Amino acid sequence: MNATSIQLIELPHSLAEEVVEELVNPDYATRTHGTRSCHNAGCRGPLCTKFNRDRSRKVYRKNNPETSRKRVGARDPVLDSFLDAVIEAHAQDKEQKERLSA
Ligand SMILES: [Zn+2]
Repeated sequence: MNATSIQLIELPHSLAEEVVEELVNPDYATRTHGTRSCHNAGCRGPLCTKFNRDRSRKVYRKNNPETSRKRVGARDPVLDSFLDAVIEAHAQDKEQKERLSA
């Protein structure tokens, strides 16, 4: 496999559905998912939940540098990288829409 090939990953169907539900949720239409403000506004979809989990871990690691990385490590690196990619694409999409409406 080379760098330009597309790697297909198998997502649990429920996760893919939850991501779509989060992205189209009208309650958070003005927010950007995968951010602190969206999570603080009450969004508990997989994107905002992952953001908050990562943030909590970062704070925990900072305060507990002796704790092994393994103990607070990612749950599933493949699913996490999928969620990261969606968060990034969503943020870029939001940014572009805001630029166009300005
Ligand atoms: Zn969200």
